[in-house]
Amino acid sequence: MSNDDPTYEGGCTCRFVRYRMTSKPMFVHCCHCRWCQRETGASFALNALVETERVVLLHGEVDVVDTPSNSGKGQRIARCPRCRIAVWSNYAGAGDALRFVRVGTLDEPDRLPPDIHIFTSSKQPWVVLPPGTPAVAEYYRAAEMWPKESLERRAAVRARSTQQ
Ligand SMILES: [Zn+2]
Ligand SMILES: [Zn+2]
Repeated sequence: MSNDDPTYEGGCTCRFVRYRMTSKPMFVHCCHCRWCQRETGASFALNALVETERVVLLHGEVDVVDTPSNSGKGQRIARCPRCRIAVWSNYAGAGDALRFVRVGTLDEPDRLPPDIHIFTSSKQPWVVLPPGTPAVAEYYRAAEMWPKESLERRAAVRARSTQQ
């Protein structure tokens, strides 16, 4: 991580929880699965995938809520204990070392548009995807889609989590 890495700050609605992402994410998912539609109450979820240690809590604390997930393995959603807004999740499949930050909780969410649209098989039909951004019916292989730098970061995360 270099000093000129961009940082991103965000938080919940009541401003009890404030956090900083200390670098750009590895990849940004726009997920159109029915689970994400239900959790957001809308049409898709926008998640920035980043190493857990690159998300620093600046103020407050989070309540972690065990929540069922599409994979059946569950996810742990971190919510503000006061206003209950969800700020990030950890999925059992990806492990504790990888955090899915909810892009809509960033102060400047426009900075992180999707790198890929996933689960478009259940996309709501009125959502029109832009040409030029990859889109897949369900999931995909990171090795085929992620930039080299992000794959190296992911490999480092995996190496650390298997050492534990
Ligand atoms: Zn709050
Ligand atoms: Zn989803």
